[in-house]
Amino acid sequence: MVSALQNSIRAGRVSHAFLFTGAPGSGKTSLAHAFAKTLQCEAGGASPCCSCLSCRVYESGNHPDMLYVNPSERKSIGVDDVKEQIISRISTAPERYRYKIFIADRADLLTDEAQNKLLKTIEEPAGFAVFIFLARHAEDLLPTVRSRCVTFALRPLPAETVEAELIRRGINGGTARACSHASHGSIGAALEMAASENFSALGEAASQIAASTSSQNINAAFGMYKLFEPYKENKEQAVSLLDMLYMRYRDEITERSAANGLTASDISKIFFVCADAVLKAKKALQKNANYQLTIEMLLLRIAGLCA
Ligand SMILES: [Zn+2]
Repeated sequence: MVSALQNSIRAGRVSHAFLFTGAPGSGKTSLAHAFAKTLQCEAGGASPCCSCLSCRVYESGNHPDMLYVNPSERKSIGVDDVKEQIISRISTAPERYRYKIFIADRADLLTDEAQNKLLKTIEEPAGFAVFIFLARHAEDLLPTVRSRCVTFALRPLPAETVEAELIRRGINGGTARACSHASHGSIGAALEMAASENFSALGEAASQIAASTSSQNINAAFGMYKLFEPYKENKEQAVSLLDMLYMRYRDEITERSAANGLTASDISKIFFVCADAVLKAKKALQKNANYQLTIEMLLLRIAGLCA
């Protein structure tokens, strides 16, 4: 995508204004920066060489021909910000590199006035000027500005793709699976979740519950309920915990059964019961069944105390 963008801009065939839209973590920011970095790269390739001066300076955030706008008030980017920080600077020739690129990473913060002010510059840009807007929705920009931009809408990725990417980055299977499902197709969001304390807490809880597989101990089984208690009001997290649990006790059963000399048929019976119990619990939670009842039933099944 970057090289297509780059070719079109070098051939002068498209607008000098771009709009990348997508949910937070959809990859729009990474793509926009890869695009800008490629345009500025001295090697002139289809992707940034990452070793020329431009590429190295880009990473430092002090690239002389990259412009960013700092909102003077935190909640919006007004007409004065745009005049002082962008318009006055983007009309003068680049300091050193081929383009002068302005990235508005929160285009939704640009006031209507600020956008109208920018419009004229976007309509008749200097040959070296490139505008890149990032927003959650295309509608965050005025139709007049939007119509001058080449728009790229970044769609969420399938959960399997996110999961595979997390595993490739060394995140364990249970966490990768739970985070990828909860992230709604965003690798960025999934990585953040995987690194968050809450997810380590879920992983920890899943390990403890998995260790109780076939324990046949009713007090221990009911005792596990406290691990689910924190997620009573947060069904999504409870479901994430169930997803992690499935992955964990699968590992747990394999390990423990090898140690206890269980037969393959015993293992598959236990596994079937537990997998079925998790599935039933997930369905029940999704149908708003009584939380405690659902979870305790699940825990009893996992402990091997009811069918
Ligand atoms: Zn380079």
